[in-house]
Parts: sequence; structure tokens; C-alpha cells
Amino acid sequence: MFCIQCEQTIRSPNKNGCMYSQGMCGKTEETADLQDILVKWLQGLSFWANLGRKYNIIDAKIDRFATEALFSTLTNVNFDSDRIESYIKDTQKYTDILREKVENAITVNGDDYTTLTAAAKMTLPENKLSTKEAIPEVAFNFKLARDNEDTISLHLLNQYGIKGAGAYLEHAQALGKSDESIFSTYHQLMSQIGDDDHSLDTLFDIAMQIGQLNYKVMDLLDQAENEKFGHPEPTKVNTQPIEGKCILISGHDLNDLDLLLKQT
Ligand code: SF4
Repeated sequence: MFCIQCEQTIRSPNKNGCMYSQGMCGKTEETADLQDILVKWLQGLSFWANLGRKYNIIDAKIDRFATEALFSTLTNVNFDSDRIESYIKDTQKYTDILREKVENAITVNGDDYTTLTAAAKMTLPENKLSTKEAIPEVAFNFKLARDNEDTISLHLLNQYGIKGAGAYLEHAQALGKSDESIFSTYHQLMSQIGDDDHSLDTLFDIAMQIGQLNYKVMDLLDQAENEKFGHPEPTKVNTQPIEGKCILISGHDLNDLDLLLKQT
């Protein structure tokens, strides 16, 4: 396990990062490693989703799945190893569907075969019964952490940056809002960071593009929230304690908040 994606990360004079049997937040080594595998698999999925767009192969269900699954790997969103493992299996299933369609399109059009990214080449070892069993052979970030500090920093900046874009894109979709040009850029960048051997300049350039993507995603989410709930304005609320039971809800997904309030 190596996770450094939030401000709670374990700090020591020699090294920063949660890299023991569990993180400061309680995330276990198993869940953290499965999440690393899932991210890599999703980068492979995006390779085919990105290439597919050249042939007008676009699958809205797979796009939605891609951001939902990536969102699950953010801090405190999902610590359920079984659920993360099932996302990995679904990612493989959707990747196979897209790859078959894209390879057919390449053949039909007589195009040259594109070079696969490192992530698009990944496969789970066949001799392992489950992804959990395969963790030691395919977990990534710990290996990455031993590389050059500038390289690892930019890799992680890009990885965490695109996780943010995926999360808020998922929030916008939950409110019924989507945008093909945003998805197209998302898959292009997610596919690009699936290669491990970029120069520092390229990694920096990708980081700037992910920043622009996040700006567009936040704008989309802002539109979605305004259309559903109206423009936010200061409002007086009752702050007096009331005797009895209560349910405390925190977070920033307004759609979830709306659904939970209706249910309670
Ligand atoms: S998300 Fe959890 S494991 Fe990762 S850095 Fe934060 S506290 Fe550590």
C-alpha cells in the first residue's frame, strides 16, 4: 500500500504516505492495493474509449461506469474490498466490449494498429482465482513511490486531479447532466496517464490539461445543481437544539443529500 491522496496521510521525518497495513483513515492495505489496480484498469478502459471516439464508438453506460468506479477510489468514499474487486471485474468486462468493437473498426477501415499504453496492456494473472490473490503481482503505487520524487509527485498530481474530475462528473450525471466533449477529454487524459514513461514536461502539460478539465467539470456540476435546486443564496435556518433523535448527514453530493432528506 502507498497512499498519499489526502491531508491525513502519515508523515514521518523520512517519508510521507500511508504505507503500512492500514492508512490513517482506516483504509486497509488490501483495499488500497485493489483501488490502485482499479485505477490502472480504468486507465486501460479509457484507452479504448478514447480510441473508440475516432470511430464514433461511444457507450454512455460505460462512460458513466468509468467515472463512478474512479470516484470509489477517492479518500473515504468506499473501503469495501469486495465492491472494489467487483468494479475491477466490470472494468475488464467493459474493456473487452470496447476493445472488440474498436479492433473491428480498425480492421474495417484498414488503419494501422495503435500502440497500446502500459495500462491497456495489463492483464490479471490467469493462475489467480481472485484479484485479491493477484495483488502482489499487480499493485502499482508502492513501486512508483521508489522512483524519482518529481516524477512520482507529478504522476500522483495527475492521478488525484483526474479522480476529482471523475468524482464531480459522476455528481453531475447523477443530476442528469452530461457532456460528450468533457467525456472525450476525460478519456484522452485518463488514457495518457496510463503510460509510465512520460517526461517531466509531458507530465506537467497533462497536469495543466487536467486542471482545465476540472474547471469545465465544475462548471457542468454548477449548472446541474442550479437547474435542480436553484441558485444558492443565504437562508435563515433554525439552529435551536430540539429534543429527540437526529440523523447527521455531511458531504458535498447534493443529489445524495436530497435523496437522504426525502427518505428521512
Ligand atoms: S486516503 Fe487514507 S490511506 Fe490515503 S493518504 Fe488519506 S489517510 Fe492515508
